[in-house]
Amino acid sequence: MECKVCLNEMEKKKVDTSFWQDSQFVVVQHIDAHECPICGERVYDQETTAKILHAVTHGKVQKYFQTPVYSLEETMPLM
Ligand SMILES: [Zn+2]
Repeated sequence: MECKVCLNEMEKKKVDTSFWQDSQFVVVQHIDAHECPICGERVYDQETTAKILHAVTHGKVQKYFQTPVYSLEETMPLM
């Protein structure tokens, strides 16, 4: 599969992803993806996308973890 961004050949690999699902930040692990080793572009096939959606709507939560949150809105000026 060719990367749509930089036209490099993409690699098959297992990845984790995270996103906001309603008001919850969720992580999905062990996803089959095609990833570009040059620019990092990721593609999931239709079946995998359906599995991700199913996991976050009907799946069992595997674990919880604390997530540090940072903001660039009020950071100290760079020295
Ligand atoms: Zn690329």
